[in-house]
Amino acid sequence: MKVRVTNIQRFSLHDGPGIRTTIFLKGCNLKCPWCANPENLDFKKTEYYNETTMEKGCFGYDIEAVDLFEDIIKDKHYYKMNNGGVTFSGGEPLLQIKALEPLLIKLKKENINMCVETALQVSTELVEFASNYIDEFIVDIKILDKKMCKEILNGNIEMYNKNVELLISKEKIETFRIPLVNEYTLKEENIKNILEFLKKYKVRKVEIFKIHNLAESKYKSIGKKMTKFSEVEDKKIKEVYDKIKKLNINVEIIKI
Ligand code: SF4
Repeated sequence: MKVRVTNIQRFSLHDGPGIRTTIFLKGCNLKCPWCANPENLDFKKTEYYNETTMEKGCFGYDIEAVDLFEDIIKDKHYYKMNNGGVTFSGGEPLLQIKALEPLLIKLKKENINMCVETALQVSTELVEFASNYIDEFIVDIKILDKKMCKEILNGNIEMYNKNVELLISKEKIETFRIPLVNEYTLKEENIKNILEFLKKYKVRKVEIFKIHNLAESKYKSIGKKMTKFSEVEDKKIKEVYDKIKKLNINVEIIKI
């Protein structure tokens, strides 16, 4: 079965343990206003035109899932050093997880560690299916209020909570990842909700990162306008860091 991919990145260091190959899959069901990967939002192929380089092209290509195997396996030697492997990212990679199955079966046979970076706002059936193969889920925590999650992200917090419960019961969530956005996720009420959430679901690690405005030219090249956000001050990041640390959770500030 074919999957739609935008990019394959070798030697990634921030998408799970060890050295990894990250496969970016096209298509997402959310619409986070701060999204830094606008080329991955639509499932359909996205044309671009870079005004500076006058380069034209298309984001997204179709490939048989099993044909990704060679790209992944060639770095097996590096994965072995520190539990590295492959990470499926996006977009929302779980939307294409069924089409990936032939590849997942092959990777499982080779004992390659598999991670998924996900917002987890897809059907529980898909999450259950993925959990049969995927070793570790890296799960976003964004906006936890039901109404705001729907209005701002097009998300479904009840489905998200159900999916988190399922993966926690299977001990499959290794990391929660929190984007810091003054205008949304850093609102006092949301941070309070996030801390309560983290108290309930203790996982090995929490990663926090501030969003950036660096994707502007990418937005422009696909004919979209990027919403700009205010700079998140280091002091604010440290405050969130300290609050999570106080819960005795291993927290790390990362750059994305
Ligand atoms: S879930 Fe990720 S890819 Fe999808 S809109 Fe949000 S930030 Fe972008």
